[in-house]
Amino acid sequence: MRPEILFPFFAPLEKLPGIGKKTALLCEKLCGPAIVDLLFHMPTGFIDRRLKTKIADAPQTGVVTIEVIVDRHYPPATRKSPYKIVCHDDTGVINVIFFHAYGNYPAQVLPVGEKRFISGKVERFGLGNAQIQMLHPDYIVSETELDKIPEIECVYPLTAGLSGKILNKAVRIGIEKMPDLPDWQDPAMTKREGWPDFQSALKIIHCPQNEDDLKKIKAAKQRLAYDELLANQLALALVRRNMRRVAGRSIHGDGKIRKAVLDALPFSLTSAQIRVLKEINADMDSPLRMLRLVQGDVGSGKTMVALFAMLNAVESGAQAALMAPTDILANQHFNSVSKIAAAAGVAVVLLTGRDKGKKRQEILNRIASGQAQIIIGTHALFSEDVVFKDLALTVVDEQHKFGVHQRLSLSEKGRSADMLVMTATPIPRTLALTYYGDMESSQIDELPPGRKPIATRVLPAARLDEVAAALNRTLAEGNKVYWVCPLVEESEKIDLAAAQERFEYLNRLFAGRVGLAHGKMKGSEKDAVMQKFAGNELDILVATTVIEVGVDVPSATVMVIEHAERFGLAQLHQLRGRIGRGEKASTCLLLYANPLSQTAKARLTAMRETQDGFKIAEEDLTLRGAGEVLGTKQSGLQEFKIADLSIDRDLLTMARNDAKYIMNIDDGLSSERGKALRLLLYLFHKDEAVKTLKAG
Ligand code: ADP
Ligand code: MG
Repeated sequence: MRPEILFPFFAPLEKLPGIGKKTALLCEKLCGPAIVDLLFHMPTGFIDRRLKTKIADAPQTGVVTIEVIVDRHYPPATRKSPYKIVCHDDTGVINVIFFHAYGNYPAQVLPVGEKRFISGKVERFGLGNAQIQMLHPDYIVSETELDKIPEIECVYPLTAGLSGKILNKAVRIGIEKMPDLPDWQDPAMTKREGWPDFQSALKIIHCPQNEDDLKKIKAAKQRLAYDELLANQLALALVRRNMRRVAGRSIHGDGKIRKAVLDALPFSLTSAQIRVLKEINADMDSPLRMLRLVQGDVGSGKTMVALFAMLNAVESGAQAALMAPTDILANQHFNSVSKIAAAAGVAVVLLTGRDKGKKRQEILNRIASGQAQIIIGTHALFSEDVVFKDLALTVVDEQHKFGVHQRLSLSEKGRSADMLVMTATPIPRTLALTYYGDMESSQIDELPPGRKPIATRVLPAARLDEVAAALNRTLAEGNKVYWVCPLVEESEKIDLAAAQERFEYLNRLFAGRVGLAHGKMKGSEKDAVMQKFAGNELDILVATTVIEVGVDVPSATVMVIEHAERFGLAQLHQLRGRIGRGEKASTCLLLYANPLSQTAKARLTAMRETQDGFKIAEEDLTLRGAGEVLGTKQSGLQEFKIADLSIDRDLLTMARNDAKYIMNIDDGLSSERGKALRLLLYLFHKDEAVKTLKAG
């Protein structure tokens, strides 16, 4: 249960005086349902209204507040013309302009003969810049209401229907209503860094009053970013300790199956694979529970590593499960793993959401009886009726599609099962710390021998016909082609039509050799097309991003990506990883449409210049920010609201060390500071982590 002192922070927004249901709903859409979510919605800048001038002294353009007397109204002559109100002071005349003024609004707010204060952006024009006007003033108030004009007003990211004015008001009221909290940061540190306390930081950021406040905004933001990062690191440390506390088991197979498999493989393991397997085996051997992340570029041989870890569990008489994010990938894993494992007499089953009724029941029976030794599947594996006889190892091939919390719930299945997470896009160290800080990590930093580098070229879309015509040769040499069209949710219909059209176009050139696969197709249809492409029936696969998740067709040597400017760097890298898997040299053609933004240009250049996943990941972080690198932005799993990992990396390291220190001296969070830190965890929605304290 959340401590009482925090109740005001978690009250629904409607509880704020002056905030109605409608505004509350809009705010909720923007940043979340509670007042604390609003307080963590950071402004991106501010409008300074402190400049109060006479009309004659107003600048060429800029935001000012002016005291005026209203002279005369000129309602619009036609529907399209503006409503003009002439006002004056003792130095000159100013026109206030409204377009599409509503009803008698202008007459109400600017009654003739009255004194009013207007605040907004002025513009001078005409001969000698003698004329001056204010278009749609932000504020129009009488002298008694003057305090309604904020001196410095914040600019926030907004949502349709919600004005900055209302949001400013809501945040201000919110801040006033919040109780003081004990500081959870080490006072020596805040002093050294020159950081304000939590409440002051919120005030400085959301309601700066003067020059002094404006100067402190940077420090205040750092303070809050650090709060957020410390909450993240501390939560991960607590969760990790909790998982470790659940007794693990020592898994130590006799190596017989692994030797048989190794002897049957047409290749030997790379030294990186051998090293990572050693790390995994040591973890499995230890009575502690394994929580390990395996990072490696596409094609570096992670699946092979996972297979050997699973065989270790099988040798010891237990079961192992491998979970993939999509049906296609689960199928692919099943095909490659069962082929190898079956030769060594290991029973492998596949379970996806597509298995229904009797067939599903049969699979479940085999899992429950222990007849199935390696179980491969999708999310379906974790539905309640899947009962394992003795699950000792769970491998999650996650490709960034699962969040920390999801991962936690997955690991509940086998209470003491070891856990291995594989990620295909290398993650910059910085991000690995925040996202996987609860895990040990291994890196497969070497590709299997014989891989040819991929030549990457960036071309304007205008050269599409030329590119298509050139495929003739590729096909004649017995090679296959991926042709990728983007699929963005917002423009799904148009994108699907474009993919369909491209399919028809290519099919006219290479009749009968072209297939189409997209995310809206039925799973079985999609599989059928992929199968044909992997076999001999099709040579060109037009696809939306469905192929991103890891199909393996070694004879594919060309990848064309249309609208490459619309893809993220990590995504492009993933896609490109689909080729260059065989003996022959491969080519990736990135077609772009203008206009090309600066970042899009930088992304395409990075793609052309390097094939190193780690370099690409670092570059991606710099270009886009953390949420998008992890692909969590769309899935609503964004980790940070305040901290920006592309600039706050040093803070993250500090927070990590701080969390370690706290765990060393007060891992029950029971000291004074510890109690305050619990508040911090709640404020940043780390309730799960606090719960682990009770359990202990
Ligand atoms: P990842 O899962 O990292 O994308 P995979 O494990 O699917 O990579 O391996 C990609 C391809 O490389 C597969 O066809 C696999 O059989 C092959 N492979 C894996 N390890 C080796 C190795 N040590 N030597 C040669 N080929 C390998
Ligand atoms: Mg793989």
